[in-house]
Amino acid sequence: MAKTVDVTMDKIIALAKNRGFIFAGSEIYGGLANSWDLGPLGTELKKNIKDLWWKMFVENRPDVVGIDANIIMSTKVWEASGHLKNFNDELVECKSCHERQRGDELEADKKKKLGDIACPKCGKKDWTKPTMFNTMFKTNLGPVESPENTVYLRPETAQAMFVDFPEIVRVARKKLPFGIAQIGKAFRNEITPGNFIFRLREFEQMEIEYFITPPKTKKDWEKYFDGWLKEIHEYLKALGVDMKRVKDTEVAKENRAHYSEKTVDIEFVYPFGQKELYGLAYRGDYDLKAHGLKYKDPETGKEFVPHVIEPSLGVERTILAVLLSAYTEEDAPTADGGVDKRVVLKLPKYIAPYKVAVLPLSDDERLVELAKDIWNGLREKFVADYDDTQSIGKRYRRQDEIGTLFAVTIDFETLEDKKVTVRDRDTMKQDRVEIVQLVNYLQRKLEISH
Ligand code: ATP
Repeated sequence: MAKTVDVTMDKIIALAKNRGFIFAGSEIYGGLANSWDLGPLGTELKKNIKDLWWKMFVENRPDVVGIDANIIMSTKVWEASGHLKNFNDELVECKSCHERQRGDELEADKKKKLGDIACPKCGKKDWTKPTMFNTMFKTNLGPVESPENTVYLRPETAQAMFVDFPEIVRVARKKLPFGIAQIGKAFRNEITPGNFIFRLREFEQMEIEYFITPPKTKKDWEKYFDGWLKEIHEYLKALGVDMKRVKDTEVAKENRAHYSEKTVDIEFVYPFGQKELYGLAYRGDYDLKAHGLKYKDPETGKEFVPHVIEPSLGVERTILAVLLSAYTEEDAPTADGGVDKRVVLKLPKYIAPYKVAVLPLSDDERLVELAKDIWNGLREKFVADYDDTQSIGKRYRRQDEIGTLFAVTIDFETLEDKKVTVRDRDTMKQDRVEIVQLVNYLQRKLEISH
């Protein structure tokens, strides 16, 4: 019966906006280009996505520890890492209408040279020569605007894991191989942001720098690389991402960073094309070397520069892949025996913003009072919604659309038999459950394996 549609971006954006997942930022002032705010449901969803990553990639592993570093780091970090010099995009401008684009991306997308590519805005084929544009956001530390006070918002979370490496080795008592993980904001002054939350100027990353002993053979690093690729796939499966739409693409030598011996882009088939979701790279000893950092083997006393494998995951692209995978349209029976359409966000139980919703059948005071009592009892255990507006059918539809796993209905019979109706989001099957058993019942159903 379930019918999954090839969901369009318009449908996802409309649902995200109407139901309070994601809406345009600064809207009362006409908006700020490509800034998106998360509403109550989007905030829960994002939190669950990050929590699952933290659990699977940090807490469940004996060899990974977390940090939470400053967004603004010393400018010396960006000098040493090469970002000040190399974190550039190729900027071109249409000479006719001044539309700005990334030259390299246009050429890659159209598989043509720039001179043969029409401006997407005015159609002319007359571009300026490409110039290099550093995409780091610049600001000042303190009240005086001067070159010595110039600082940058980090364009990736990774550098803190390198810069803090000596501190972590000192305090974490980890021997190689081990990883340092972080979730946090990153900022890039992208030339062409867009596709909803796919390319943003302010976004979050979930990254690990995994340090290994300098490998003697290819096999020595490949086993870790392959292990992380598998972990990424496990994470995507746990998120309910449609694995048929996930493609691993090895990046050709000429397109990857010079120090990287292997990079795999984990791509997703979005409605606007197959594009990067995450990246996984073997970075050699480039990073620690750049910062002049070494590791001293506690057993042999030998000093050396560890090599690094980096799984790098974007939070917003995850949200997008999760929503696109979960969105389902299917036939649902109506009360009078007909057939209706319903939209269901089939989010896995760990990810769904609300686990349960409490719905009194009508606004009768006795029902409302009891329903609120039940809601109060549930909220300590589960993220729970309460809704006493509109018809029960409409309220079920709303809960389906936001992915709520169970709806608990309080009706007039409840007042007599102290039982409620629990409706399952996916099967729409209904169970009659004693109020005193409700927490138990839901806990059993919601048992989470990660
Ligand atoms: P792209 O080629 O799409 O610009 P990238 O190769 O520059 O991405 P990385 O530097 O490898 O991206 O960043 C790691 C991850 O961070 C990406 O796989 C993606 O999930 C996320 N990410 C990077 N840039 C953005 C952005 N502008 N908006 C949202 N997420 C981003």
